[in-house]
Amino acid sequence: MITPVLPSYARQDLQFSHGSGAVLVATDGRKYLDFAAGVAVTCLGHCPPELVKVLQDQAAKLWHVSNLYRIPEQEKLAERLVGLTFADTVFFCNSGAEANEAALKMARRYHYVAGRPERNRIITFAGAFHGRTLANLAAGGNPKHLEGFSPVMPGFDQVVLGDWDGLEKAIIPATAAIMIEPIQGEGGVVVVPPGDLERLRALADQHGILLIFDEVQCGIGRSGKLFAHQWSSIAPDIMTIAKGLGGGFPVAACLASEAVGACMSAGTHGSTFGGNPLAMAVASKVLDIIAEPAFLARVVQKGAVFKEKLIGLSAAHRQGAFFDQVRGEGLLLGLRCVAGVDYAKMQVALQNHGLLTVGARDNVLRLVPPLNATDADFEQALEIIEGL
Ligand SMILES: *Cc1c(COP(=O)(O)O)cnc(C)c1O
Repeated sequence: MITPVLPSYARQDLQFSHGSGAVLVATDGRKYLDFAAGVAVTCLGHCPPELVKVLQDQAAKLWHVSNLYRIPEQEKLAERLVGLTFADTVFFCNSGAEANEAALKMARRYHYVAGRPERNRIITFAGAFHGRTLANLAAGGNPKHLEGFSPVMPGFDQVVLGDWDGLEKAIIPATAAIMIEPIQGEGGVVVVPPGDLERLRALADQHGILLIFDEVQCGIGRSGKLFAHQWSSIAPDIMTIAKGLGGGFPVAACLASEAVGACMSAGTHGSTFGGNPLAMAVASKVLDIIAEPAFLARVVQKGAVFKEKLIGLSAAHRQGAFFDQVRGEGLLLGLRCVAGVDYAKMQVALQNHGLLTVGARDNVLRLVPPLNATDADFEQALEIIEGL
């Protein structure tokens, strides 16, 4: 008999009653070090007092009014994001997939308004993950995710990262935009070299097409910069953010340049819940904390030390180690399991020793601790990994 909750997830048989910082407490009382962070979401740990306070304060004042009215909390956060990025304007929504839908619509609309409606195709990259809506499944191109959901939405072309000839060929008169994650998360923690982002920018400019960065996972400080593309010298035309933005409160955004955003006149797009005062209050606080240069510098430093120590525990330095590669930037790290070792088994083994991680493609285990994890948290994680 089917469970009352739709069986669309392969869940671990584990449930939690409360959490604090990087620690989750299961209903049986066992404590876990949470380096999964709800899939790179709880960037300030569980129930950080600053976020609890703004959430409670806002909850007592006003939750939701809809976008029929001005929302001062939204205007404040949009101004802040505009000040911190290339963007001139921001659309708020509730999930990464929804932010990417907005990005895709903006790219098409931009060319439509300019009198080029035939420019409506988007180029994406093998291994990409952009979400589970029909458009984002087509963009991601993962056959496993698409199975049974035909027809695949038209309008997407996919190339292999680093195949520049293939990319040049894929750019046709119907191309509207190139969409890429500066660091692929679900794809196995694959860092796009900053030089490649610069080359993509040049290509896009040369062909008059837009560049979309999906920073849903790698944004909001994960890489050690506020946004991962800020390791390069260029900026996109459109950027989506979500996971870390609310520190666990569902909120997302699609940021755009003025030229792109101006095409989205009243009535072209919307979201009932998008940018409600509760979400805006929490996200503003998250951004206040994470955008601090000292906070980001600490992510870079802690991430570099942690990565170095993980490399020391890898198969290159230790016989019998279960991983042979450490990938990633900042605190978005991946351990690629050695051939013959299944990442899913290692995930369960680590969990049984009290460390939570997330799987990714390419036999990779992701380590995405809260960005404010303590030295003791990192030491404990290393001990558990070494002990395996
Ligand atoms: C998680 C993720 C998404 C989808 O976000 P949802 O909130 O699950 O819709 C999109 N893009 C990237 C890069 C992601 O990591």
